[in-house]
Amino acid sequence: MSTHDTQSPETLAVHAGVDRYEFSPVVPPIYQVSTFSFRDADHGAALFAGTERGYIYSRMLNPTVQALENCLATLEGGVRALACGSGMAAIYTALTGFLRAGDHLVCSDAVYGPTCTLVEQELPRLGIESDVVDTSDLDAVKRAMRPRTKVVFVETPGNPTLVITDLEKVAALAHEHDALLIVDNTFMSPILQQPFAWGADLVVHSLTKFLNGHADVVGGAIITREEAQYGMLRSKLNLLGGVLPPLESFLVHRGVKTLALRMARHCENAQKVADFLESHAQVEWVAFPGLKSHPQYELGKRQMKGPGGMISFGVRGGLAAGKAVMNAVKLCGLAVSLGGVETLIQHPASMTHATMGAEARKRARITDGLVRLSVGIENADDLIADLDQALAASWSGARGASGWDGQGERAAPTDVPPPATGRGSRAGV
Ligand SMILES: *Cc1c(COP(=O)(O)O)cnc(C)c1O
Repeated sequence: MSTHDTQSPETLAVHAGVDRYEFSPVVPPIYQVSTFSFRDADHGAALFAGTERGYIYSRMLNPTVQALENCLATLEGGVRALACGSGMAAIYTALTGFLRAGDHLVCSDAVYGPTCTLVEQELPRLGIESDVVDTSDLDAVKRAMRPRTKVVFVETPGNPTLVITDLEKVAALAHEHDALLIVDNTFMSPILQQPFAWGADLVVHSLTKFLNGHADVVGGAIITREEAQYGMLRSKLNLLGGVLPPLESFLVHRGVKTLALRMARHCENAQKVADFLESHAQVEWVAFPGLKSHPQYELGKRQMKGPGGMISFGVRGGLAAGKAVMNAVKLCGLAVSLGGVETLIQHPASMTHATMGAEARKRARITDGLVRLSVGIENADDLIADLDQALAASWSGARGASGWDGQGERAAPTDVPPPATGRGSRAGV
């Protein structure tokens, strides 16, 4: 991996994890096997004892999976990586790897819905307590820290509000308290954000999203910056069993080769779509790190190499209008998940973040009218045309739904104000 030190992410995304000497094929083939033969009894014994390197059983290690892991570790600027069966498997393995009964966790409030459910409903069953706070507010993080706080878990930009947490500051704060900082880097991918550079101790990903990019695999990963942490997590993953199979690993590794190209196009398209939405009369507010109206625009520019492909916005007319937009889109797919080549649109309050419950959603500033858009790599003008016609339909849809008489000029009332961050910006989130 030493020649990789000087190479750029675009080059690494194509070459990292591929050892041309070990594998004569140009890409690592799919080792679709559960177990590996030993030459003889001594060989088997040496592999188990760890005195010789090699493969034993695919839950432990598999060459195709390992090639992807080496690629991900290199791209993130880490040391080692573990491919997991899903992003949730990665998060569960990482959190339970470092936390035990009696320990305390501080977690971002704007996170992937099931992460919040895991932290608030599953971890307490193991005796792990947590405080869910706005990690973009350093004082809130400070107040939440306890003597038994072992991990600070941050997702930035947050899902779906796109609130940005200052990784350097929150890492320093965590370290002051002898806690680890774990960052969910799914929304950015290693091309746009490298949490290790800002002091994070561990990075987790849903490979399902931008890294694979083609909406055909569910997978996750943990990237470590220390060999010892890797060893501990590898034994845990082997016991918990949530590993990524060879075929999925092959597909994700293939997806990663175009990651840099895709991320550039996601950013470019999302910027155009966000500019369009911000100027649209039917749109109340837009949250996108690439807009000057984002309350943390400057922080985003410092910490991230691009604004990413995720946009949240509020449609005038609240819940009914938001639903009408989703029913009217023709090109944007109505589906959860994100980070694929195709643009997807969804409604967090009724879909991804429904399990959080109304209280937790309110605390995380996920309003009923919030619409989340994962902007794909299509032609931006085509996307804008689709959203334009859907917003026009939402205007009549919202009026129909609330039984107004269609007098026309009057603006539809809003069921909720734009989410507030206390920074007083129009974008609000
Ligand atoms: C999707 C997602 C996850 C969970 O990943 P799965 O692969 O669906 O288990 C975690 N974090 C973020 C930010 C996500 O978008």
